[in-house]
Amino acid sequence: MKGSMLRTLAGAAALALAAATAPTQANGPTDADLMNDAASTGDVLTYGMGPRAQRFSPLKAISTDNVAKLVPAFSASLGGEKQRGQEAQPIVYDGTIYVTGSYSRLFAFDARTGEEKWQYDARLPEGIMPCCDVVNRGAAIYGDKIIFATLDAHLVALNRETGKVIWNKKVADYQAGYSATAAPIIVKGKVIYGNSGGEFGIVGAVEARDVETGELVWRRPTIEGHMGSLNGKDNGITGKLNASWQGDLWKTGGGATWLGGTYDPETNLLYFGTGNPAPWNSHLRPGDNLYTSSTLAIDPDTGVIKWHFQTTPHDGWDFDGVNEFIPFDATINGKPMKLGAKADRNGYFFVLDRTNGKFIGAHKFVMQTTWANGFNAKGRPNYIDANRPGAPTAEKGTSVFASPSFLGGKNWMPMAYSQDTGLFYIPSNDWGMDIWNEPIAYKKGAAYLGAGFTIKPIAEDHIGALRAMDPKTGKIVWEYKNKAPLWGGVLTTAGNLVFTGTPEGYLKAFDAKTGQELWKFQTGSGVVGSPVTWEQDGEQYVAVMSGWGGAVPLWGGEVAKSFKDINQGGSLWVFKLAR
Ligand code: CA
Ligand code: CA
Repeated sequence: MKGSMLRTLAGAAALALAAATAPTQANGPTDADLMNDAASTGDVLTYGMGPRAQRFSPLKAISTDNVAKLVPAFSASLGGEKQRGQEAQPIVYDGTIYVTGSYSRLFAFDARTGEEKWQYDARLPEGIMPCCDVVNRGAAIYGDKIIFATLDAHLVALNRETGKVIWNKKVADYQAGYSATAAPIIVKGKVIYGNSGGEFGIVGAVEARDVETGELVWRRPTIEGHMGSLNGKDNGITGKLNASWQGDLWKTGGGATWLGGTYDPETNLLYFGTGNPAPWNSHLRPGDNLYTSSTLAIDPDTGVIKWHFQTTPHDGWDFDGVNEFIPFDATINGKPMKLGAKADRNGYFFVLDRTNGKFIGAHKFVMQTTWANGFNAKGRPNYIDANRPGAPTAEKGTSVFASPSFLGGKNWMPMAYSQDTGLFYIPSNDWGMDIWNEPIAYKKGAAYLGAGFTIKPIAEDHIGALRAMDPKTGKIVWEYKNKAPLWGGVLTTAGNLVFTGTPEGYLKAFDAKTGQELWKFQTGSGVVGSPVTWEQDGEQYVAVMSGWGGAVPLWGGEVAKSFKDINQGGSLWVFKLAR
């Protein structure tokens, strides 16, 4: 009797304890947790390690003094018969590491052992049309859900404990060339994401859905003339019909938002970049072609565009302006300012006033820009007209040499901003291309380029270059050159470190102030993912995906010999300091 009573009391105590701890685990990350992600060192809840995507960690247990002692804690394979590029950034929460993999897969691994908890494989239809490999860049976590986009243009919310589908929404028509590879972001209970398919004459858009139900809340097309929506009702057209497009070209105008966006809680603005106008052949579409190759600031509550800044008006080189716009604060000419920066595919690093889009400066961050000679005071490029690919007549037009190549001075791979050094760390590439225009007509689901190209190296010793940019002066403070093109994201920490991967298979660590290489580890395949860091059981960890692929091996042209011996893979690598 007494024993039984004790057992009952113990049971009641256990139940009380469970009741006290269970709600946090069951409820999971909240809006407030996501907004606080940059400061919370015990987790990585957002793509970019904070809504501003600065990819800066205040952790400093691993530093310039001891990074040489960084060793693997474990590695976990994504398996599968097919590998291809692993461009994901891990999410870390409550003892689990979530990573997306090639072919629209999502994995949950135990953060202490690497043991797989569950795996979700999207069943992709035949006929998907990703332009640039079967990659995925990451997931978003919220409450009981982990959410990611798939190559057939769906958005899928899974139970983060079990991997079971909670909702699955078609967001666009893959048969018209739409796909999705970017990590969604979550702001105030809405999951917000872009679309891919700029090479197929799609129309770019940013959309917001209720994170609990997956139902559409608002939609904002990026091309002038298209109608936006809010709660099922029209919410005004984007721009002004035919103001910067002639005839019906706006109906297939491109402007894909394929890299997703960032969010600044201070200004309550989303920042989404937009891709190339379609087709690539600029002679077929006179005008600035708004809002392609631009950064858009969007109200997260309504989807209304608050300001825009076009980095390549009338783009003729596929200089997608999709690159991430990272909010930061700095004092310029003695005045403290709320700024944002973007290292554009066109080879220029832009600094804007993030409250209103006002142009502050554009600084070249690559060896060569043939298409323009800087920017004027209003932020318009000084075009070099002779270097625009010529208009085709019946056949191909005049070929020109253009630099950067269409793969860009910087492509998708995210840069990082250190709050300690005040520098941006840009994973860039120095390369050019021969490019010419050809006649083209739009056909649903077919490539809509009207151009041909061959990528070429422009330097003897490197293509890739990790560059430290001072946003206040536009000066490159240091650079690290890499033989193969850099294609992975960057992480910086209060330990005065910068981490990035190389196609040759290394995760490397550099001194954030000097660029001195301090550590490297060979992961067995090319590193084109984005590293993260967090604190667990009193130790600092670093994780990155390994797995060579992405656009470079598909479109490499004459630069392909710099990476011809790199093997494919698909693994999560996790590191900590040796004891
Ligand atoms: Ca965090
Ligand atoms: Ca493009």
